[in-house]
Formats: sequence, C-alpha cells, structure tokens
Amino acid sequence: MVLSSVLGFPRIGPNRELKKITEAYWGGKASVDELLQVGKELRAANWKRQKDAGVDIIPSNDFSYYDQVLDLSLLFNVIPDRYRKYDLPLIDTLFAMGRGLQRPATGSSPAVDVPALEMVKWFDSNYHYVRPTFSHSTQFKLNGNKPVDEYLEAKAQGVETRPVILGPVSFLFLGKADRDSLDLDPISLLPKLIPAYVELLKKLAAAGAKSVQIDEPVLVLDLPQNVKAAYKTAYEAIGKESGIPSIILASYFGDARPNLDAVKGLPVAGFHYDFVRVPQQLDEVAAALNSNQVLSVGVVDGRNIWKTDFSKALKVIEDAKAKVGADRVIVATSSSLLHTPVDLENEKKLDAQIKDWFSFATQKLGEVVVLAKAATNGQQSVAKEFEENAKSIASRANSNITNDPAVRQRLGAVTDADKKRKSPFPQRLAAQKKTLNLPLFPTTTIGSFPQTPEIRIQRNKFNKGEISAEEYEKFIQKEIQEAVKFQEEVGLDVLVHGEPERNDMVQYFGEQLQGFAFTTNGWVQSYGSRYVRPPIIVGDVSRPKAMTVKESQYAQSLTKKPMKGMLTGPVTILRWSFPRNDLSDKEQCQQLALALRDEVNDLEKGGVYVIQVDEPAIREGLPLREGKERSDYVQWAPESFRLATSGVQDGTQIHSHFCYSDLDPAHIKALDADVVSIEFSKKDDSKYIQEFSNYPNHIGLGLFDIHSPRVPPQDEFEQRIRDIVGVYPKENLWVNPDCGLKTRKWDETKKQLTNMVNAAKVYRQKYSA
Ligand code: GLN
Ligand code: ZN
Repeated sequence: MVLSSVLGFPRIGPNRELKKITEAYWGGKASVDELLQVGKELRAANWKRQKDAGVDIIPSNDFSYYDQVLDLSLLFNVIPDRYRKYDLPLIDTLFAMGRGLQRPATGSSPAVDVPALEMVKWFDSNYHYVRPTFSHSTQFKLNGNKPVDEYLEAKAQGVETRPVILGPVSFLFLGKADRDSLDLDPISLLPKLIPAYVELLKKLAAAGAKSVQIDEPVLVLDLPQNVKAAYKTAYEAIGKESGIPSIILASYFGDARPNLDAVKGLPVAGFHYDFVRVPQQLDEVAAALNSNQVLSVGVVDGRNIWKTDFSKALKVIEDAKAKVGADRVIVATSSSLLHTPVDLENEKKLDAQIKDWFSFATQKLGEVVVLAKAATNGQQSVAKEFEENAKSIASRANSNITNDPAVRQRLGAVTDADKKRKSPFPQRLAAQKKTLNLPLFPTTTIGSFPQTPEIRIQRNKFNKGEISAEEYEKFIQKEIQEAVKFQEEVGLDVLVHGEPERNDMVQYFGEQLQGFAFTTNGWVQSYGSRYVRPPIIVGDVSRPKAMTVKESQYAQSLTKKPMKGMLTGPVTILRWSFPRNDLSDKEQCQQLALALRDEVNDLEKGGVYVIQVDEPAIREGLPLREGKERSDYVQWAPESFRLATSGVQDGTQIHSHFCYSDLDPAHIKALDADVVSIEFSKKDDSKYIQEFSNYPNHIGLGLFDIHSPRVPPQDEFEQRIRDIVGVYPKENLWVNPDCGLKTRKWDETKKQLTNMVNAAKVYRQKYSA
C-alpha cells in the first residue's frame, strides 16, 4: 500500500490567528496562557484537517510561535549569553532572539535591551529563518521538550504523527559563528551536538513515535567536503543507537544528485526528495537506496498554489514504484506546505474559472491522498477525481488568459538591440548632464515617504467605495504636493512623488497588469508575525494602460527640480509573486519587462527624465547551486532589466536600487543602470566599501538606516561620505538613504534628510572650490 504524507502544514491559522495572538502578547494585551492556548488550538485544528482529509503520515513539531529553526536553537540550548542574563521565561527568550527586546526597568526587573539574531532567507523562498548562532562556549543540551510534547498532544487527540526536526548537518551549516567566536566553523561542533539529537530521538521513541522526519535541506546546496562528510558522521552515530524511531531523511527545493554520495548507505529508513523541482532525479536517487529503504516522492508542490496535474504526478509515482517496488513508495508534498496559503475555500472573490486552477495547503492534502489511492488501487479507484483534475488542467492550458498571442508575438520579435541602451554610459552621461544639470554629490531618496495612518484610512475608504475615485485622487495629489514641498525645503536635488498611492511595491503593479490574480486571504508567513499575500501570475502579462505616469507627471509639474519616476523591476515582481509553473521564469520575466518598458517609455514621453526601476529581489532569484541554471539566470535577469529600461533616449537617466541581500557587484554591473543605490549603512566594514568601487557608472551607498527613527548627526554623515570619497571617484557619487522611508514618521525623516543634505553640501563646496 502506498501511503500519503505531508511534510509540514502552515501554522498561521486560516485567519492569521497566530499573528493576532502573538502581536497581542508582545503588546501586553494577551497573557502567556492565552498565547499558548491559541497555539494549542491551531495545532489541534491542523491535525484534524489532515486526519479528516485522510492523510496517512501527519507531521507534528511543524508548529512554531516564530520560526522552526529558532525553536531548535532554543531546544538545543544554542542561546548566546546576551539572551540569558535577564532570566527570561523560555518563550520570551525565543522572541528576544527572534526580534530583539527593549524594555524599561520595572519594579524589581532590570531594563532589557538586546537586538535580534540575524535573520536570513530560507533557501530561495520568501520565508526567513533566524540563524543558529554558535560560540566556543555553546553547551548543547535539551532545553524543554517541544517535539515530544507536541507528539503527545496529537496522540491525546487520537492522531498518530511523525515529528519533524531539522537535522544536525543542516542546523549547523545554516548557522554561523557568534561574534565572540569568529574562528569557529559550526560544522566542527557536530560531535558535541549529536548526543543532544540522540537524547531527543530516544525521548520521542519512548513517547511512542515510530518514525521521524529529519529535514536535511542543505543537501540541495553546493557543500564543502567537510559538510558532506558530516552526514556520515552524524547518521552513523545516530544509527548505532537502539531505541530511536525510524528516520526519513528529507531534502527539498532542489537537486540532491550532486550530494547523493554523502547520504548513500546511511542507516536510515528512507529518503524524501523534491520531484516537483527536479523530476529527473528519480533514477539516481532510487539507485542510491539500500534494498529496504523507502522513497518518499514529493509530487505535490509545497511552494506554489497550482493544482497538481494528477496524471503527470502519477507517472512519477509509477516510475518510482517500478524502480523500488510499491511497498517502498510514499506519496508526499514536495516540501512543507508552510509556503502556501491555508485554504482556498476562504477566497470568496476569485473568478471561478481561475480559482479552479488553484490548490492551497488544505486542498493539497486531498491531492496527496488521491494520488496515494491511485498508486495503491489504480487510477480507476479515483476516476472521478482524475477526470475533474484533467478538466481543470486542460481549462488552464487552453485558456486565453494563459495564452495571449499578442504577448507571445511581441516577445518573439525582441532583438538584441532592444536589450541595450542606445549609447555607452559616457555618452549618456554627457546627454544627462545637459537635461538634468545636477551638482556634485546629488542628493535623492529611494522613493517612498511616510505612509501615514491618514493614507491608509483614505485608501481603505476608497477600496470600500466610501469615497469616490475623484476624491481619492484629490487626496493623493495633496499628498504629492506635500512631499514635493517637503523635499524642496529640505534641499534635495532629485525628487520623488513619495508613492502615497501604493499599498505595496509589487501588488500595486500586479493589480494594473493583465495576467495577475489576487487573493483576499492568501497569507503566507514571511518571518515571525509578518505575513505576505503574494499576487499570482496566472497568464501572459501585458500592460493595458499607463500605471504611474499620472502621479509622476503631476509631481513633476509641481517643481523645477527633476522628478524621479518609480517602478518595480521585472525580476522583483516575479520573485515576490507566485509564478506560473507552465512557463519558464525567464519568459515570465521578459513579459513583465516588456510591460514595464512601455511604462518607462511613457514616463519619458510624459516629461519624466529620471526613472528608477527597483530590483531588491534580484539576489534571491539566484539559483541555489552553481551550474547552468545559475549561469543562465545571471544572463536573463539583468537582460530583463535592460529590456525594461533600454527604450529611452541617452538623456534619460535610469536608476536602480538594491537592498538587504549579499549582492554580487558583477550582476549589478550587468544591469547597466546609469545610477544605482545600494543599502549600506549597517555594513560598516571597510572591506564592504570596496565592493562596488569598480562599478563603472554612478552609485549611491545608503547613508542611514531607514528602519530606525535615529537621526544621525551631520558630522556622522560627513564621516561616511569621507570614507566613501576615499574609495570612489567623487564625480560618481550620489547621496541617499538605504531604502524607502515609508515606515518612518515625517518629523524623523525631516531631521535625517536635512543632516544628510547638509553633509552633501559640505562636500560639494569643498570639491567645487
Ligand atoms: N521604491 C521603493 C520604496 O522606496 C523601494 C522599496 C525596496 O527597495 N524594498 O519604498
Ligand atoms: Zn530598498
């Protein structure tokens, strides 16, 4: 019999219950008991959902109040001393590590002030995990019993579960050395860590767990030799123990083949692999199994919202059965369902035809169950489900939403010349000097100005139909007027309109483009209590009409200074949406690029001669492994940007902006933007200043942290400019903040920008004299 299995379920609740209660707890409006109670209810509801759906192998310990990796740090006592000295309860230590804690002294308890641990992206997803942070002094031991408690909790509810834990190799490799132990290679801690895993596994077995899912997702990365070797060390040591549950070692999000030699022959009960991402790995991963090991076949996509194509998935499962035997195959989700919204049934406003193409976490449960049945009893046993599925898949494939001949034709006609500016940078610069007439060290901002409560109120009213389009437009115009006036007073050189009309930098464009769909409740956890609601690219993308010209043109009409038009780039729109799975990322990105190209050209026609196209997500799109996929990406991603921006005259200045990721200067250079701005203020390392010094065009390194209300004094700005001027040609430099200012307050921003502008003036004077 082929069993069905789920690797993890979203914990946020169908109506963001987890966010509401954790934020209430942080704000002092809910007690710890209330918090724990909601957690318990959410877990119970998730187990019930899965059991009701008929899933055979249901996970536990996939719940977390913040992040499952952080939970493990806490469980294994990987808690830097700075979080210990306040004697906080465990749950508050968790939140302090995840988000920092600042609290004034009260009565007998002293003031608390600790920043958060580093948070980074979980592989190539938009989920962020808190990095395990190790020191020489780290003492591994079990701190609490979360996995065991949750296993027993499910059991008491009558649900037998398979606990999930991140494995030791991934836990160490995804972590880092703390600042007091910079010479430490976390993987060297493995021998000390293994006993803690063994102890945990024994406790789970003693509680009754027969099987555990140990996630080792780093298996899909390029691994140094010592990390590869760590698999053997870890799992042979664990395998020697008696009284532990059987282990399914799970990898996902990529190709495990290059590291198969590291896990072949390990004493585990079986392996899980992602066949949505890499169906072609079946032969090799099957061949690497021992004769008694099971193969968990991930065929239901845990990273996207599309209905599974049953006949395609069944074919993979049948292939697997033929290779290893029916009794050794498990049908599974490709990864945890954490990355998908909870329930499609909560979407009341989606177009019925499009809705039928989707499958959210709850619907995916049904999919694994049907596929496991088909694999066990034959497709006829679920004939009706297969028939409906085939109809829905065909309706999508044949829909004129997914196939727009005009878009295809236009893309087919794109030439190399379309992806290149008319002249090289020096000529463009000369033309731009004439059109823009900017001083040395020109000052600008990254686009958004404070999104005040008033803006949100008016937007809500407009969305609910309580105010008319005209009234709303009047309101936006007033906001733009104020932003322009503010910038003139502060003395900035290149102004922006402030983005008051935008709810979100991707959604705003998606809503105006053909080919997108939106959910009302499709939340996915990004980090902690921050959830996002990604737009969905359902079909070929085009731009029915101008999206931003009205606002930018209006803003330009209010000032003699140059106004900077503001767009989100094609790569970033793609990355922060649910992409199609029936068209390559490259083609989707090019379609977006063409739509944006029209917008860029229309801005220019409308008299806006500085245009910024933001690409903050360009780094996270980089494929996880070196190789062809990556070398292709570093071609097509910048090419899409250039396709979007190369329709303009030499005298029009193209800007781009990047933040909060480890950028590769070579990739930025390939965009050939006239000016780039890069987040920089927290990278005080002198090494980092050098990094972009070869950038041939103009550049602004962000001079202050937009996340903080702190106002750096003018001499601090001058010091930063001095450091940069020592490394970059002064003619190339711009002066700007790290990123957009939407989360700040106007008075803070005024002080910050005034000091920034005055510091730029000091240098301008110094070098013009
Ligand atoms: N133009 C955007 C803003 O200022 C850029 C945001 C971003 O880089 N994440 O808000
Ligand atoms: Zn930014």
